[in-house]
Amino acid sequence: MAKIYGQKIPLKILANAWQNRRLHHSVLLYGPEQSGKLETILNLAKTMHCKKSSKGFCDRCSSCRDIHLLRSPSVLLTATDDRMTNIKNYITLIKKNISSAANKLKYYLSGELANILNRHKFGFLKRVSSEKKSFPAGIKLTDKKLENSLEEIYNVYHNFLKSGNINLFSENVINKLQSLQDTLDRSILTADGIKKMTAMIKKTPVTRRIIIIQNIHLINSNIAAFLLKLLEEPPPGNYFFLTADNPADIAPAVITPLQSRCMELKFNKLNPGLITRICREKFGIKQDFTPAATITETLKAVTDSGIQKNKNNDQDLLEIFSKKDYNFYQFEDKVNKNNYTLGNLIQMQMEKIQKYINEKYNSLTAGHTVAEHNDIYRLHRLQKAVQQISYLKNNTNVADKTLLTRLYLLKKQFV
Ligand SMILES: [Zn+2]
Repeated sequence: MAKIYGQKIPLKILANAWQNRRLHHSVLLYGPEQSGKLETILNLAKTMHCKKSSKGFCDRCSSCRDIHLLRSPSVLLTATDDRMTNIKNYITLIKKNISSAANKLKYYLSGELANILNRHKFGFLKRVSSEKKSFPAGIKLTDKKLENSLEEIYNVYHNFLKSGNINLFSENVINKLQSLQDTLDRSILTADGIKKMTAMIKKTPVTRRIIIIQNIHLINSNIAAFLLKLLEEPPPGNYFFLTADNPADIAPAVITPLQSRCMELKFNKLNPGLITRICREKFGIKQDFTPAATITETLKAVTDSGIQKNKNNDQDLLEIFSKKDYNFYQFEDKVNKNNYTLGNLIQMQMEKIQKYINEKYNSLTAGHTVAEHNDIYRLHRLQKAVQQISYLKNNTNVADKTLLTRLYLLKKQFV
């Protein structure tokens, strides 16, 4: 078996089931973001199709590479997750020559780029128009603009695959990629998308194909019914993989019937020791570094840095993240009493937090020595947190209760 970091057991279970012809036709993988769900599914696909290895996968043959770049007909992906954090970090690391494993990083970068491009290919996902008003600037792309951006990114992508030249990723190209991601962030899998997918699956029969549907917590119960139908009568040779952060966060009407059709596999959050190893072995960052930070640390750091000046509302936000079992309803009371809306609170805080993280990030990545990059992974997580709070900030024109729920879900990823 080729090397997989962090999640050996789920892959082993799936690969064994496949080799013993006992692989269930629908599998639900759940666990926190960045815990290796997609990587595991793609590695299983490689195992099913590898031309060189009969037991695992080689990650080098044309079949493994095609799956990595999502251009294999054996993998269908409909995804709504965020790949930009990874893309930006890989580009930064390669450009600054921080890592001794640049070729590996380029390989990972190509996979993430393929992921974003692939999602626009089949038209399974649809932009949600009812939320248009709260879209961030990048999202107001007209279809024509989207098409032009896509064309440009495709060109850069193909040139990068040929030449490996990292300088193709100018600021402008990165911004365009971000716009594509923003579009995807506001897209969902619709009933139409599932119909299209079903038609495509039936039209092109295969001996073994993996269909990945990510983030099923974003689908509603009407669509779940279509999906359920597909899972109940799966066309032969097709294996469905659904992913979610936590089934407990999904409406029972959606998740219970799906769970009854699926084999379930749980993914655990990666532990700090393992993250250290991954950075060392996968990215060539040699030194040990601090455990993955939580958003609590960021907020504390912001407070300590004196950027915030003892305002009650700052303390409240900090409190949410620093207490393990914070009672969100208590917070709601507080918000009501102090006469500020949660939306305002988030908007007030975000710029400060973002500024702090950007400064910290820039100062840490400015030099070239390994010692200065102890915190790369930590910053990676922090950036992710900032992006997600940014999303909250740009979408505060919803009920406080909705915001509170989103905040709560966000927090759960970091504690
Ligand atoms: Zn192979």
